[in-house]
Amino acid sequence: MAYLANPSKTMEVVKKYNLSIQKKFGQNFLINEGIIEDIIEAADITKDDCVLEIGPGIGTLTQYIAEAAGEVVCVEIDRMLMPILADTLSEYDNVSVINNDILKVNIKEVIGEKNKGRRVKVVANLPYYITTPIIMKLLEDEEGIESITVMIQKEVADRMEEGPGSKDYGALSLAVQYYSEPKVVTKVPPSCFIPQPGVDSAVINLKRYSEPPVQADNVKLMFGLIRAAFNQRRKTLMNGLTHDQSLGLSKEKVSKALEEMGLSQTVRGEALSLEEFASLSNILNS
Ligand code: SAM
Repeated sequence: MAYLANPSKTMEVVKKYNLSIQKKFGQNFLINEGIIEDIIEAADITKDDCVLEIGPGIGTLTQYIAEAAGEVVCVEIDRMLMPILADTLSEYDNVSVINNDILKVNIKEVIGEKNKGRRVKVVANLPYYITTPIIMKLLEDEEGIESITVMIQKEVADRMEEGPGSKDYGALSLAVQYYSEPKVVTKVPPSCFIPQPGVDSAVINLKRYSEPPVQADNVKLMFGLIRAAFNQRRKTLMNGLTHDQSLGLSKEKVSKALEEMGLSQTVRGEALSLEEFASLSNILNS
């Protein structure tokens, strides 16, 4: 099977299988070989690696991953794509395809013995409607993941990289930056896909830290504070934290903590860095 990363080959496959492209599954197939090469290079894949690909589609990106990696495990939700993938990936004996929802699978079980105990690299052109839950699952649940190199909506990639003071800074920025070092690799216009998405895209590389960059004694509490702070974005941090029933924090306790940190009583959550959220959670945890 020839490479699929161009408009004519992609349309040939779509016609051959009378495939109806599913918007509900966020299907936008890559047709630009240069962008795929950028993804493969940023993911730094070698023959020693086992790669998890989320949503292989018709197998366009998978062909290049299979050539670079030792093993490839793909998880694809759309049953209609299974016969197509069996055809387009027939030349590769190091690829297995699992028909399931990535949010429902146990990644360690799916990878099984294929990674021979090593950590896995995730590579994907993600379905944009569930980017955040997928990224959070990969970062939070799976210590076996070394890096994540994915195509996502450009606006979401920007949020992952931002720090305090930017309008794009939020709970996602802090979660990504606690677990990994984010780096936008390249920006990608809608013309690189069939069908074209209504938004600009970007490839981002998240390199997982072996140790988090800040010391939080109670990580669950820190993320509880972050969630409460950004739920009440236009309010002060004090109001955000004390109005969240699940935290059970009194005004007095928060006030003392802010004072101890040298922060104003009227500071807003979006002004705090990851390090400051970690310090605040350590004070409130003690
Ligand atoms: N990798 C292909 C490419 O680059 O041309 C297709 C990428 S397309 C943006 C996203 C893919 O993810 C589609 O094949 C879609 O069916 C699949 N997908 C959507 N939701 C999924 C889920 N919950 N679990 C696994 N795959 C999913």
